[in-house]
Amino acid sequence: MREIIEGLNFNYINPDQVICFRSYGTKSPHVHARCWSLPRIWQKALGVKPHYVIEVISEKYDSLTLEQKKKLLIHELLHIPKSFRGGLRPHKGYISSRIVEELYRKLENKSFF
Ligand SMILES: [Zn+2]
Repeated sequence: MREIIEGLNFNYINPDQVICFRSYGTKSPHVHARCWSLPRIWQKALGVKPHYVIEVISEKYDSLTLEQKKKLLIHELLHIPKSFRGGLRPHKGYISSRIVEELYRKLENKSFF
């Protein structure tokens, strides 16, 4: 996750405030991963900084290739808005397979120097 954040210069994301979580036994058959936010009201009420959780569903995620895993994580990271305040970005306008593909290539080219 850190490699992707740094490799793609997602400077607005603080990796210390992004938690990776592996879960087991989901009921929804199509979900491989999810991005969760901590709403502003919870941040204020609990007195904590914004945090995001990238959840991967073990049964779906673990058997993917490294390329598929990276793309999935890129997709989930794209849900985090530039403001990094506790909101989430929708797919429309921000996330598509073309955008993920481009970012993946950018990331891979960087790691081959
Ligand atoms: Zn999504």
